[in-house]
Amino acid sequence: MLKVNDVYKSFNDTKVLEGIAVDISKSKVFGLAGPSGSGKSTLLRCMQGLETPDRGSIEHNGKMCFMFQDFQLFPHMTVIQNLLYAPNLNKKKHKKHDKEQQANALMRNLGLESKKHAYPKSLSGGEKQRVALARSLMIDPETLLCDEPTSGLDVATTTDVVLLLKSVCETAGVTMVIASHNLDFLTEISDRIVLLKSGKIVADIETRMHDDPINYLKKYY
Ligand code: ADP
Ligand code: MG
Repeated sequence: MLKVNDVYKSFNDTKVLEGIAVDISKSKVFGLAGPSGSGKSTLLRCMQGLETPDRGSIEHNGKMCFMFQDFQLFPHMTVIQNLLYAPNLNKKKHKKHDKEQQANALMRNLGLESKKHAYPKSLSGGEKQRVALARSLMIDPETLLCDEPTSGLDVATTTDVVLLLKSVCETAGVTMVIASHNLDFLTEISDRIVLLKSGKIVADIETRMHDDPINYLKKYY
């Protein structure tokens, strides 16, 4: 469950979010589109509790995880150590073996088995992205928030990431909220797309209901 109730947010005199109301609960992949500066990151940060709305509220249950634009992997830890860090903070030792198995399965599904003991600096952009995704899923979130997950990836890698993100999250039963200025990517991956412009929702579509969602959304851009 994830619901945004009439959220307003300003920084000094700049109005960034102006009455955002949206229920994301029923979406599997929820796309947040909009030009740079439209408020996408701010809305994601409000959902995550990293920013407090001036007015309105965010309702959610279950764990929520945030995948950062620049991945923020721990540079001094190997891939497997990155994956097990957060789960190991939980002191229930009997779960340790389960978490190791989960980490191995995720690495297998994401094509990272050969990178298990590698350090982040030796990984490509696409590999770092997949490690960040695996690490997020290790805490069994109900919702995964991704901010511009394809920035810094080339077109071929982006297509791979689209398919991987989608299949892995479907398997894990995770709702994804993806902010991106890349309409092609969002249309490929999302079942619903909301378009933000100057802090307001100006379009809200179910992608499968449109023959040409990109052109439709471009009219509101
Ligand atoms: P987007 O992710 O769609 O590019 P952002 O949410 O990052 O948009 O930013 C929307 C607007 O809010 C921009 O004008 C940005 O400069 C401003 N903004 C975002 N965060 C802050 C902040 N912490 N302090 C001041 N202004 C901010
Ligand atoms: Mg942003």
